[in-house]
Amino acid sequence: MEDTTACPICTMTDLLDGGDYHECATCGHEWDKAESGEVVVLDANGKELNKGDDVTLVKDLKINGKSGRLKAGTKIKGINLVDGDHPIDGKVEGRSMLIKAEFVKLA
Ligand SMILES: [Zn+2]
Repeated sequence: MEDTTACPICTMTDLLDGGDYHECATCGHEWDKAESGEVVVLDANGKELNKGDDVTLVKDLKINGKSGRLKAGTKIKGINLVDGDHPIDGKVEGRSMLIKAEFVKLA
């Protein structure tokens, strides 16, 4: 799913990603992501994750309170992003889970 962030100056959505800021490809305006109120969540490869993205686990994870574990390569579809140190909110095998961003990559 595409991020629908638009340039506040020219309203075009053709944006370059400068890391912690956006740069408009149309008019060159730059602005801080933090100022725009977005939660910026980066995956294991440093790519920005957005709500609705599909991600894949990059390492095995223990499931709290259960003897099972999630295998690296498990796909999580349609994630949600939340505040905190486990910002990935996704459903794995029917269970809602919060996962650290560095344990996933964009699928
Ligand atoms: Zn612009």
